[in-house]
Amino acid sequence: RANDQSTTTPLKNKSVYELLSLKGKVCAVTGGSRGIGAEVVDAFASAGADVAVFYHSTDISGKLGPLNAKYGTNCKAYRCDVTEIASLDKTVSKIVSDYGKIDVFVANAGVAWKGADILKESNDQVAVEQWKKFLHQDVDAVHYSARVIGRVFKEQGFGSMIITGSMSGAVVNVPQLQAAYNAAKAFVIQYAKSLAIEWVGFARVNTVSPGYVSTSLTGSLPKELKDTWNTLIPMGRSALPKELAGAYLYLASDAATYTTGSNITVDGGYTAI
Ligand code: NDP
Repeated sequence: RANDQSTTTPLKNKSVYELLSLKGKVCAVTGGSRGIGAEVVDAFASAGADVAVFYHSTDISGKLGPLNAKYGTNCKAYRCDVTEIASLDKTVSKIVSDYGKIDVFVANAGVAWKGADILKESNDQVAVEQWKKFLHQDVDAVHYSARVIGRVFKEQGFGSMIITGSMSGAVVNVPQLQAAYNAAKAFVIQYAKSLAIEWVGFARVNTVSPGYVSTSLTGSLPKELKDTWNTLIPMGRSALPKELAGAYLYLASDAATYTTGSNITVDGGYTAI
């Protein structure tokens, strides 16, 4: 059990470097087809894990063969819409049937807030629909994922859930009009902390909060906005998705058996000032 002192016994004979290995673990990563999630998949496989890679609209059929050949793993692709709890349930059941267990679940899939400031849209009905759709994608999907994987972790008696938050969940992301996105990410960070306590007997729950990362989520933003961001970030640049992956690897591994309810911020110093 996650909080049983007997779980620490096998740790005593291993170095921390050995504990960072994911050999023998089965990890599931939503939003694994692109951006941050794709780097998390690569990091987990490089550490020896078999990864169930969730995709939705991006074709990843050609990617997993080379990944498995490179790392000697058995990673498989699973099509899933994380906004549909039935789709999540079906996918997770299939993974358990394929691999026999799930050690780690990364709820990473997400979208950017496409609206402007909350007063810009003049039609209330349109504004309400935009709002509901966005929260469904970035908040409801995390809750649905937690319900589905929580049942598996409880039954198994172990598991690690990692949710992708954002620096925007801690501070107002100044250059952008993002009340909805900031609030959604604050929600998932606090949600993860609460789950960590509710699930303390059988699973760990943590968040990783990226700063500004170069992915397709930020790629279409205007150049002026990116330039402003770079002047506000103490390190003066955006992150490569790979610079996030180590935080997920740590939380997935047995080096983190005492880490739950934590939020690891990886933002080039943005929230430190
Ligand atoms: P990308 O746009 O590069 O990738 C988004 C991923 O989410 C894709 O793999 C996509 O799958 C998946 N996805 C979207 N909607 C669904 C859905 N309904 N069902 C299943 N999968 C879906 O984004 P990032 O890698 O940048 O973002 C990943 C996470 O990181 C998000 O939660 C985001 O909010 C967060 N984040 C990103 C930051 C950044 O600067 N980039 C900063 C802070 C947080 P597919 O392509 O197959 O449809």
